[in-house]
Parts: sequence; C-alpha cells; structure tokens
Amino acid sequence: MRPSLEILATDGAARLGRLTLTHGVVETPAFMPVGTYGSVKAMTPEELDGLGAHIVLGNTFHLLLRPGPDIIDAHGGLHGFMNWRRPILTDSGGFQVFSLRSLRKITEEGVQFRSPLDGSAVRLTPEDSMNVQLKLRSDIAMALDDCTPYPATEAEARASMERSMRWAERSYVHYYGAGMEALASAADRARPAFLEPAGDAWRSEPPGGLFGIVQGGMHTNLRLASLETLLKQDFAGLAVGGLAVGETEEERLRVLEAVVPEMPKERPRYLMGVGKPEDIVQAVVRGIDMFDCVIPTRHARNGHLFTSAGVVNIRNSAHQADLGPLDPACGCYTCRNYSRAYLRHLDRCNEILGSRLNTIHNLHFYLDLMRSLRAAIAEGRLAAFASDYLKQRQGSRDAVA
Ligand SMILES: [Zn+2]
Repeated sequence: MRPSLEILATDGAARLGRLTLTHGVVETPAFMPVGTYGSVKAMTPEELDGLGAHIVLGNTFHLLLRPGPDIIDAHGGLHGFMNWRRPILTDSGGFQVFSLRSLRKITEEGVQFRSPLDGSAVRLTPEDSMNVQLKLRSDIAMALDDCTPYPATEAEARASMERSMRWAERSYVHYYGAGMEALASAADRARPAFLEPAGDAWRSEPPGGLFGIVQGGMHTNLRLASLETLLKQDFAGLAVGGLAVGETEEERLRVLEAVVPEMPKERPRYLMGVGKPEDIVQAVVRGIDMFDCVIPTRHARNGHLFTSAGVVNIRNSAHQADLGPLDPACGCYTCRNYSRAYLRHLDRCNEILGSRLNTIHNLHFYLDLMRSLRAAIAEGRLAAFASDYLKQRQGSRDAVA
C-alpha cells in the first residue's frame, strides 16, 4: 500500500498530518523509536504502544546478518516476527555498512563487506537491499544510498551524491518491479493455497512504499540537484540523509532551509538519525514530519535522562538519597512510581529493571514532545512553543546534575 499523507493543519512551514500506512495511521510530526534487532531495547510492543509510539524503525543491516531475511519472511514479515502490529520503517542497511570503514569496498554495483560477526563476505547492492526490505514487509522502505563522509569537499560530495542517485533509481525500479514480483511468486511456492487469506493485497502491490534520500553533504546546490533527480521517480516520501554526522547545528539548519521548501507538500519528509529534543523542534519548525534516533533509548541505558528541567545523570551521587521522582512534571510510569534514589540504585547494581524504567521515561519524554509539537501546530502557536522550549533547554544545558 502506498503511504499517503493528509495535511490537517499548517503553522508556518510546519505541518500536522495523518500518514496512512499498510499497518495503520501515524500522526505527524512523528518520532520512531529504533528497534535495531527487531526489538526496541528493553521494551515490549505493548509498552511501546502504551507510550504512544505509532511506528518503529528496523535496521536492515543487522537483520540481514541475524537472523537473515528468510526466517523473518517465514513469519510473514517483521511485524509477525517481533509481534508489532503498527507500522514499521526499515532503513536500507547502507549507513551501517559505510561505518565499517576498514571492512568494506564500494563499487558502482554496490558494497562488499566482511560480516563483523564472522568475517564472511556479504554483498549489499540496491537490489539486495530492496529484496531484504520486501521480505521484511516494512510499511516504508528506504533506497540504498552512498553515505557521504563529513567533512567532504564539493567534488567528493558530488560524486557520492550522484552515485546515491543512480542507486536510488535502481532501488525504485527493483522495489516496484522484479523484487516485488519475486516476493509474490516465492509466497505462492511457500504457502499452500488453502492458507492464503482472501484478498492478499500485497501480492499485487508492494507491502509498503519506498522513500528516496536527498544527499549532497553540506553543499546546498548539490542537495537541490539531488532532490531534483529524485523527483523524476514517484517516491512515496522523501528523506534528508547524511546529517547528524558531526556537522554544526548551523550547517544542518542551512541544508534543511534550502531543501525542505522545495519538497512536494503532499509527500512525507523524514530527517534521518536526528536527534536531540531541541534538534527535533528546530526541524519540525522547518517542515520535517518524521524522525528516528537512538538517543532516547541508548542514553537511557547509560543513565542519561531527559527531564523538563534538563538532563539528569542518574549515576551522579547527588541522587543517592533523593526520594523525589526523576521528573515531577512527568506522568510516565517510572516517574509516578519510583524515586531517583531507586533508579540510581538499580543502575549501580546493573539491574535490568533500571534499563527498562529509564527507557520508558526517555521514550515518554520524546513521544510527549511530539504530542506537544502536534498540539502547538494544530493551535497555531508553534513559534511561541519552539522559542520557549529552545530557551529553556539552552538554560538547562549547563545545569546537568
Ligand atoms: Zn517520566
């Protein structure tokens, strides 16, 4: 099913939307918790649902290596495998492959790499990435792109972007063509006819939609050329990739301000891998609809917790005898039931429950921010909300306890 975005309200460049996908509706702007190995670390699907996550992200690279796409395919896709019934976006696997600097070789065909698990040779071409993502039956699949290093000269960024555009076209042709046909005919072979549910829609159309990724490093002329190339195909949505790679905030915002206004209004816009709460606010103001980042979940496991008064490091001895909640202004399960002293104790004892409670809180913080952003857009007060929020976080940044 092709993703479709209904814009319910706008406020400046920001949009409030309903993104309808194969497995349900996502309210935008949306944050996608990252489920690297088919699991958002420490969370059950019911807990994610309770926190208000509408969509999660799965990592194609990790699932390709373990357990492999065929096991997931046998479960009817990643939804059945991980027991998550709402939408899933999968990345292309490219970003992880490119970070294996010494273990990979890039050619026009694709990327060859050594598995970091057992050293075996693995190939990832645009067609391979589409085949894996089709087997995962994600609601949104991403084109394979060449991840431009940072910093990059204009010539380096151009060569990388142009390769990404050739790979995007191959991704598109394969996803909607031979890859889809192979998936449908393999399903025919694998499943006896009497088990086929009536009206198996994905057998005549892809299980989801494919997004293209704008690249071009920090060079706005290359970013615009990339977008223009992607618009020659009918991608279901458009992402901005190659940010959150070490650039300054000014560089990131300059790229967004150049590219986002040129993106077609009716298609969802996804900023990949961003970011801190204040980065998300800045990007929503500039018209971005979707985000993913490991920060809330990874930081939670390291005791780095986001609160309305700034970041709290629960490992700090200041919390040893603190009987108060982590964040008195937070309504999450953790803050309603546990003291800072208890959370610090769990962390010091490496108790699994500590990771779980911290993750519940940090994800609640992020998902609650998205709810606040959506309400602010609906009520036409986003500029004031963003200005207050950014001022408050700026002020609290130095007050880390
Ligand atoms: Zn909380």
